Amino acid sequence: WSVKGGWHRPRVQPYGPISLDPAAAVLHYGQEIFEGIKAYRHADGSIHTFRPEQNALRLQRSARRLALPELPVEYFLQSIRELIAVDGAWVPSGENQSLYLRPFMFAKEAFLGVRPANKVAYYVIASPAGSYFTGGVKPVTIWLSERYQRAAKGGTGAAKTGGNYAASLLPQAEAYENGCDQVVFLDADGNIEELGGMNILFVKKDGTLVTPASETILDGITRNSILELARDRGLTVEQRPVSLTEWREGVASGDITEVFACGTAAVITPIGALKGAGFEDTQPTGELALSLREELTDIQYGRIEDTHGWLHRLDA
Ligand code: PMP
Repeated sequence: WSVKGGWHRPRVQPYGPISLDPAAAVLHYGQEIFEGIKAYRHADGSIHTFRPEQNALRLQRSARRLALPELPVEYFLQSIRELIAVDGAWVPSGENQSLYLRPFMFAKEAFLGVRPANKVAYYVIASPAGSYFTGGVKPVTIWLSERYQRAAKGGTGAAKTGGNYAASLLPQAEAYENGCDQVVFLDADGNIEELGGMNILFVKKDGTLVTPASETILDGITRNSILELARDRGLTVEQRPVSLTEWREGVASGDITEVFACGTAAVITPIGALKGAGFEDTQPTGELALSLREELTDIQYGRIEDTHGWLHRLDA
């Protein structure tokens, strides 16, 4: 895709290595953005993605922050449709199976000065994805990263760009060393931000769903959809700063009755424990997370009616 607009030699080619100039800007300055989206096969064989225009719009927001050209929504959708059109059999059938699609754009212009690149490449790669959990949904253990943050105010936290993930690798390794599955980050104000690759939500005793608001959070499409399903059920939804104290005291007093995380890969995963800063708190798990998970996956796999118009058919 060219900065001046329009495709330049678009094609579908067999998966394999690509060649880059050693001075390509992406290798030095990390000027790149990406998306993650799944294609689901329904029982009637048809193939659908979930809210892909939201991924396209988020890619545009990421592009603006990373000084990359904004791919029009129609071009984003076309790139996915054409990939699937080559061979729909790539989309597996079966319980919780999907084809994971990874659209990404990077600066391939070769130069060593620090400036936005004029030549970029846009690719979509795909990989079959099985169920995130083997043997049923299991609560995960979360490590609180005290020492490291993934994003700064005015930085790139809200963009889906490699630099944020680069910043999260060492804390993620720290989480593993401490027997945890995932890391939870605090934002620049010390409030709860998100996990390395998932957003976080809390359920209060009165049924209210609370999720952090912060300028450095990646605006998750799964979270956004969960909030909408919760509103449909008549639940109150609050998007506001959540402090670590509110979280820990809420769990201790019983005011918080469930803690869970969400994202395209796992959909929803209950959080069973929070560890770090010298403490280890067991977290309450409950029915709401699991029932929202079921409703969302039922929509994605076409098992219930898509009343929100969230599905986008790819093979017709
Ligand atoms: N936060 C981060 C940092 C992520 O990488 C992801 C995964 N894209 C999410 C949240 C969840 O976003 P989504 O629901 O759109 O997958």
